[in-house]
Amino acid sequence: MSKLFFRSTNGQSPAVDLREAMLAGQAPDRGLYFPETFPRLAQDEIAEFAKLPYREIAFRVLRKFSEGIIPDDALAAMCRKAYNFGVPLEVIHYGVYLMRLDQGPTASFKDFAAQMMAQMFGRFLQENGRQLTILTATSGDTGAAVAHAFHKIPGVRVLVLFPIDEVSLSQRKLMTTLRDNVRTVAINGKFDDCQAMVKRAFADPDLKHIALSSANSINIGRLLPQSVYYFYAASRLAQPGEPIVFSVPSGNFGDMMGAVVAREMGLPVRKIIASVNDNDAFPKFLATGTYQKISPSRNSVSNAMNVGHPSNLVRLVAVYGGQMDETGRIHKQPDLAAMRRDVFSSSISDGRTRDSLRDFWNQYQILLEPHGVVAWQGFLDWIAVEPLGDSPAVIVETANPAKFPEEVEKVVGWPPDVPAAMEAAIKLPEDFDRMGADYGEFKKYLTDRHGI
Ligand SMILES: *Cc1c(COP(=O)(O)O)cnc(C)c1O
Repeated sequence: MSKLFFRSTNGQSPAVDLREAMLAGQAPDRGLYFPETFPRLAQDEIAEFAKLPYREIAFRVLRKFSEGIIPDDALAAMCRKAYNFGVPLEVIHYGVYLMRLDQGPTASFKDFAAQMMAQMFGRFLQENGRQLTILTATSGDTGAAVAHAFHKIPGVRVLVLFPIDEVSLSQRKLMTTLRDNVRTVAINGKFDDCQAMVKRAFADPDLKHIALSSANSINIGRLLPQSVYYFYAASRLAQPGEPIVFSVPSGNFGDMMGAVVAREMGLPVRKIIASVNDNDAFPKFLATGTYQKISPSRNSVSNAMNVGHPSNLVRLVAVYGGQMDETGRIHKQPDLAAMRRDVFSSSISDGRTRDSLRDFWNQYQILLEPHGVVAWQGFLDWIAVEPLGDSPAVIVETANPAKFPEEVEKVVGWPPDVPAAMEAAIKLPEDFDRMGADYGEFKKYLTDRHGI
């Protein structure tokens, strides 16, 4: 049994194991952790997945990263706890499928990573008797998924900051009705203010006595579980060894990196389509080799993807032999020709997003939401330049339409059904604190309420 090591994309800090990489979040040199080499699954191991339920596939994939850190029986139990919901695959038309990642407790794909990450954090903290405060700034989906996943996990306190006017009522209730070890704070400011306060707390020497960690997509613990649903989809929809196409709506590029990880581990993948909204730094980079982050990020209807400088690009660049630092500066160009062979990207405007949501409903009688529809349009852009042929293709739908009722109703004329899990949360009484976008006040809160 050999332990896998993770190195920093900036190459200036020592390699660490999975436990250390997850507890630290970011590497000390401000790079992101990534496997030194990817563990491989043999083709016959992958072929066996066709007969296995999701949680068992999760176990067989994640075991490759946790060997020597988490015993197999414990990991298997964690996978059973984390994945007790379905992963529907619907036919759009012959050979083209929709994968709905919206059946978890907070109805977005972020549940897949948050649920597993909470299991792992809980175990690591119990092993060494430590306590940890997870600080998260959210514009909606991340906060809800993290709060639900870490609710009642021993040794963990969760503090979620959200901008009071930028979160929908149902998104807010998925965070503010939990209590126990979860505290939510409404900030009288913008998402950027919340993010800035969290970043400042991490760098504040006065807070060194409080063990702080983050659960956002820079953490390798959020990335690895996101490779599992690509194996799952291929096991159900492709013949053994048959290459498959994935189209993924992308913001911070954590979800699409899950597909990259699956391919590096041996899954035959023909193309990964990473579609973005108006925040088009990546498609421009792929086309020209010049990277220019977008600051401030552009607002759009697919608001969970309003990211001007996707944090996971440093990992994608690393896979293709290049080096990009956290500011977006390229120190070594990746192999762009290889990247273009494997990855396609296009930018979808709000106008096309809305039109496409309506057209898709009219043509297929399937309801999407603004993020999934960006993936569908990106797929149409790709097949216009490269014929699909016989390859199976999967469009990834990342949230339930009920999370975006206003947009969906505007386009199709009626509000989407609310899933049972969301409905239950929405009925509970809310409990949250409020404060201004003032770091001094937040710091005092963090110190006083440290014992939640
Ligand atoms: C977070 C999110 C995305 C973007 O995922 P990344 O991993 O940041 O690229 C897409 N859709 C929804 C609904 C999300 O919540």
